[in-house]
Amino acid sequence: MMPAFPRARSYLLPILFLMGIALVGMVGTAAAVQGYLAGLRLQAAILEQEQDQNAANRLRVSLLEAESALRGLTIHQQPEYIERFYQALQYIEGAEARRIIQRMDAIPTAPAAALIERAVATHRSVVGTLLEGQRDLAIAPGAAADANRDMDSIRETLSQFISLRRNSIAAMTSQLRRQQARVLALVAGCAGISALGVLLAVVTLRVRMRATAAVQSELAGRSAEMGALLQMNELLQACETRADIECVAGHAAQALVPGMPATLYIFSSSRDRLDRGQNWPGEGPEHITPTSCWALKRGRPNLCGQGVTCDSGGCAGTALCVPMAARGEVYGLLRFNSDDIAALDRLREHRSADAMADGMSMALANLQLRDKLRGEALRDVLTGLHNRRFLDEVGPTILRQGERRQSPTCIAVLDADHFKRVNDTFGHATGDALLRAIAGCMTGIMRGTDICVRYGGEEFVILMPDCDLGGAFERLETLRESIATMHAEGGASPAITVSIGVAIVSQGSQTLDDAMRQADEALFAAKQDGRNRVVTAAMLARINALAAPEARDHPGE
Ligand code: GH3
Ligand code: MG
Ligand code: MG
Repeated sequence: MMPAFPRARSYLLPILFLMGIALVGMVGTAAAVQGYLAGLRLQAAILEQEQDQNAANRLRVSLLEAESALRGLTIHQQPEYIERFYQALQYIEGAEARRIIQRMDAIPTAPAAALIERAVATHRSVVGTLLEGQRDLAIAPGAAADANRDMDSIRETLSQFISLRRNSIAAMTSQLRRQQARVLALVAGCAGISALGVLLAVVTLRVRMRATAAVQSELAGRSAEMGALLQMNELLQACETRADIECVAGHAAQALVPGMPATLYIFSSSRDRLDRGQNWPGEGPEHITPTSCWALKRGRPNLCGQGVTCDSGGCAGTALCVPMAARGEVYGLLRFNSDDIAALDRLREHRSADAMADGMSMALANLQLRDKLRGEALRDVLTGLHNRRFLDEVGPTILRQGERRQSPTCIAVLDADHFKRVNDTFGHATGDALLRAIAGCMTGIMRGTDICVRYGGEEFVILMPDCDLGGAFERLETLRESIATMHAEGGASPAITVSIGVAIVSQGSQTLDDAMRQADEALFAAKQDGRNRVVTAAMLARINALAAPEARDHPGE
C-alpha cells in the first residue's frame, strides 16, 4: 500500500492560523495606536484644563491681592501697597488672565470680563483718588460698595469656573484611565491571541512536518525495496537453474527484510509435498504438505499465528506464508518467520513479499518452460520418444562410454510393415495411434538404459548400450512379437507388424552412421525376407557369404 503523502491542504490550517494572527495583530495594533492617540489628546485637554484652573486660581489670588493692597493703602497709606496693587493689576490685565476671563465669559450667568473691568476701573480710580490725597472721597461708601459687590460676583464666577474645570479634569482623567485600560486590554488580548495562534501554528506545522518526514522515510524505504526487487528480477532473468533462483532470491529476501529469516519451499515433481530450498539461507522443516498450509489452500498470503494457522505438517509458529504462483500454477511457498506479528503484518501490507514471490514464481515458471521446450526439442511429440536430434547429440557419447568400458553397443532400426496400407485403410489417426502403441511397446520391453528414438515416419531406432548382438536379437524378438500381438489403442484396431535390422557397433573406428547403415541393410533384408522379423547384420553377412558361391556357380542369374 502506497503511503499517503501530505497534501498542500495539510498546511492550510497552520497558514490560516498565521494569517489570522497577522490580522489580529494588525487590528490590535491599529486599535492600540488609535487608543494611544486618543489618550494623548485627553492628556493634552486635561493639561489645558489644569492650566485654566491654575490661571483662574492665580487670577483669584491677584484680585485678592489687589483688593487687600487697596485696603492697606486706604488704611495705612503706605507706598508699598501701591506697588503691590499695580503688581496684582499687572497680572489681572495680562494675557493669561484675559484668556481665562474670556473663557469664564462662556459661563452664561457670569459676565466676568465686564465685572472685572469695572472692578479694576473702580479700584484704579480709588487708588488715583487716594494718591491725590482725597482719602475721604476714596473711602466714600458708594463706589467701594459697588467694587466689593463686583469682586464678590467675580470670586463667585471664578469659583464656578474652577469647579467646572475640576469636574472636567476629573471626568477626563477617569476617561483617560478607562482609555488606557482599554488599550492595555486590547494589547494584552492581541498578544495572547497571537501567542496562542503562533503556538497552534507551530504545533500544527510540527505535526505536519513530522508526518512529511515519516512519509519521506517510508518512501525512501519503499524506494530501497523497489531497488532490491528490480535487482532481484534482473538477476532472476539470468538464472539458468533452480539453484540460481534460490541463491538470488535468498539475497533479495535479506535485502528486502533484513533480520527476518525467510524460507523457500518448492513443489516436488510429484507435487505431493514441498521441499525446502537447498540453496537458501533460511531454516524450517525439510518438507511441508500442501494440504496443511493455508496460504497454499487459499492461494494468497496467510499470516500464521493470526487467524487460521497451518497445522503441524505445515509451517509451525508465527509466519507470513506467500504462495508463489505464475501462469495459473503454484510453484511453491515463500515463508517469513518472526515472533513479531506486527512486523509480519506490515510486511503483508507492503506487498513487497508478494512482489518477491511473484518474481520468483515467474522465474521458476520460465525455467520450467525452458526445460519443457528443451525436452520438446529433443523429443517426438506424437510418441514421447526421443527424436533424431537427441540421437545425434547423445549417440556418439554413448558409443564412447561403451568403448571406454569395453562394453558392446548394438543399434537397431525398426520399420512398421505396410504402414501406408494401414493409413490408407484405417485413416491417419489410426496410424498415429498405432505409432504410439509401438512406442509404448518399445519403452515397455526395452531396458531403461536403452534409448528408443522415433527416427522419422514409421521408422524407429534403438540404441542398446552394454548389450551384445545375441542379447539384442533376443530382446528385439520379444519386442517384435509383442507388437505383432498387441491391440492398438481404442480397441478395434488393425494388426501391425514390424521388421527390425540390428547391428553391433564395432569397437574402434566405426561411427554411429556406419553401424546404422549395417542395421539398415539388415532391416532391408528382413523386409525382403517377408517382413515381421528380426535380422542381425551378422545373419545378413552369413546369408551373403552363402549366396556368394552360388552366384559364382550361376553367374547369369
Ligand atoms: P514397408 O513395409 O515397405 O515399410 O511399407 P510401408 O507402407 O510401411 O512403407 P512406405 O515408406 O511406403 O510408407 C510409409 C508410410 O508411413 C507413408 C506415410 O503415410 C506413413 N507415415 C509416416 N509418418 C506417419 C505419421 O506420423 N503418422 C501416420 N499415420 N502415418 C505416417
Ligand atoms: Mg519406412
Ligand atoms: Mg514401413
